[in-house]
Amino acid sequence: MNKEEFEKQRLIVLERLIRSGVVKSKRVKNAFLKVPREDFLPRKLRLRAYEDTPLPIGWGQTISAIHMVLIMLEELKLSKGLKVLEIGTGSGYHAALCAELIKSNSKGCVYTVERIKPLAVFALKNIVKTGYRKWVRVFHRDGSKGLPEKAPFDRILVTAASPCIPPPLIEQLNDPGIMVIPVGGLHLWQDLVVVEKIKGRIKQVNRGGVAFVPLIGEYGFKYGDEITDN
Ligand code: SAH
Repeated sequence: MNKEEFEKQRLIVLERLIRSGVVKSKRVKNAFLKVPREDFLPRKLRLRAYEDTPLPIGWGQTISAIHMVLIMLEELKLSKGLKVLEIGTGSGYHAALCAELIKSNSKGCVYTVERIKPLAVFALKNIVKTGYRKWVRVFHRDGSKGLPEKAPFDRILVTAASPCIPPPLIEQLNDPGIMVIPVGGLHLWQDLVVVEKIKGRIKQVNRGGVAFVPLIGEYGFKYGDEITDN
């Protein structure tokens, strides 16, 4: 399939997501049209790039479904010049979309953290290939502890589910700032939570049920944890 055919499919998916109310803002719409999801997938899955479903990217991890990526982007309210932290780089696709929304000549940066080294390397390759390197920095470490040396962040995006909101991430969120994070059980009963820090206060809104791979780390799930249903 050539570039134009991928673009055509991207437009069809977008129109459906606008009709169903997932995509609301012009900015998210334009960003989605600019970033080629096919360039963030393992080669044999390229043709499935515009299926609105999670797809495997190796090491037991997935690139999130398109609607989920865009729901989170709408909640984040990104604008030019903002400093963003993403936990869970995966393929680099979500980070590239964030970069498209915050990039400006002088300011704006997306710091993204991945715990699986080969995925961090895969993501960086995809980010270079698609032209977002100038605005994205990839770190290999446990992102449940955030990235304290680069804090504070205007926005924090967590793309793996955590049993609770990691306290370091609340600390590293700027005031004002917004964080979007799936919170809940291992593979089940997770809610998408939007955390807003404003004038020293924390507001939390629940945006409904989601299903993400687990955030594994000091403030996430640990091997050996009991699996519960709450
Ligand atoms: N945002 C990605 C999809 C992420 S899947 C994309 O656009 O493709 C969730 C990712 O979180 C996986 O790659 C997983 O390895 C990573 N992850 C899980 N626990 C983590 C942790 N403690 N720190 C950093 N990354 C973590």
